[in-house]
Order: sequence, then C-alpha cells, then structure tokens
Amino acid sequence: MLFKELNLIEPILKALDTEGYTTPTPIQEQSIPVVLQGRDLLGCAQTGTGKTAAFAIPMLQLLDASKKANPAQKGIRALILTPTRELAIQIDESFAAYGKHLNLKHLVIFGGVSQVPQTNALRNGVDILIATPGRLLDLVDQRFINLANIEWFVLDEADRMLDMGFIHDVKKVVTRIPAKRQTLFFSATMPTEIAKLSNTILSNPVKVEV
Ligand code: AMP
Repeated sequence: MLFKELNLIEPILKALDTEGYTTPTPIQEQSIPVVLQGRDLLGCAQTGTGKTAAFAIPMLQLLDASKKANPAQKGIRALILTPTRELAIQIDESFAAYGKHLNLKHLVIFGGVSQVPQTNALRNGVDILIATPGRLLDLVDQRFINLANIEWFVLDEADRMLDMGFIHDVKKVVTRIPAKRQTLFFSATMPTEIAKLSNTILSNPVKVEV
C-alpha cells in the first residue's frame, strides 16, 4: 500500500514526498481511512509506530476541506492533548511538515515557560492547537483560549496521562469542549481506568491495534 492509494489530497502527498514517506505504517494504513470517514478512533499504539502521522494527516485533510467550505469560520477547530512538552513539540513539527502546503495555522503550548509568547501567538488565530493539559487549562481559565469551536479532539498517550497524574485535568478539558466532535484516542496500554475514560469520551469508535 502507498500513501497515493489513501485518497489524500495533492498538497499533503507532496509534503509526504518531501519527508521521504512513501508507504504508510500499519497504524497509518488502518487509521487514515477511518478518520477521513469522520469516525471516532481508539488506537492502541506506542510511540515509534507512526501514530502522530496517523492522526495528523487525515485531520489536516478534513480541516482543509472544512476551511475551504466555510472560509469565514473562526476559532480553534482541532485540539491535540499530549502529556509532555517533548511530545507536544514533535506533534507540532509533524503538523508543520505534513501541512506545509496548506493554509492552516498550528500552535503548541506547554507549561514551564512564560505564557506571554503563547498568548501573543494565540491572538494571530489558530486552527490546530497542540497542548499539555495544565497550561491549556490555565489559559482557558484566563480566557485566552476558547474551546467552544473544537470539532476534532485527539487524546495522545492516554495511559501516560494517567501515570503522570494528569487524568483529572484531561477530564476537565473534555467537559469544556463540544460534545459534537470527532475524537481520536491513543494509548499504548489499556488499564481499566483508561478503558473507562475511552468509553466516556468516544462515540462508537473503530478500534485499531498495532
Ligand atoms: P511516531 O510514532 O509518530 O512518533 O513516529 C515515529 C517516527 O517515524 C517519526 O520520526 C516519523 O517521522 C517517522 N514516520 C512516521 N510515519 C512514517 C512513514 N510512513 N514513513 C517513514 N517514516 C515515518
């Protein structure tokens, strides 16, 4: 199977070509069509399997189509929650690389640094926000971020969120985003608490395991 066979738009195929990607990894091959169909996804996959591209590529395609259909719409449309600053930066770089020929704005925010550059960047408009949970909630509480327009939500490394003590923050974020949305949930392992969480935030998901 080749990326060319996955019904991806030319600007994305061109960017993947620049990255040197020709063949999707198993998680990508299974997830991309499901996400493009608008279905919720429960992905059991570790870092290193290509899971970032498995969600970023189809989300970029859906966001691009949605923006073209309605150019006037404002606000943050896609939210990716991830447990660490390193993962957040990597995910942001992936959106930048795969979306380089699209007109979508992405921003990464995380704690442990001044919030000022982040709040300044938010003023320029953002389509895709990649965030760690604590800093996200801080900026939501201070009204720098409005989550009312979120249509795509990704929970990345859910089991690590639990291990790092972020599960309460994650649940809080979920209460602030619209119920009508497409949700993609990734975890390397499925302990009971994570399985329960996935049940509460996903709607009739397709399960993909690699
Ligand atoms: P991830 O599991 O998302 O952290 O990705 C692991 C690494 O694989 C990253 O460095 C990606 O750039 C790379 N990668 C992801 N998908 C592909 C692909 N289809 N072909 C080649 N490299 C890839």
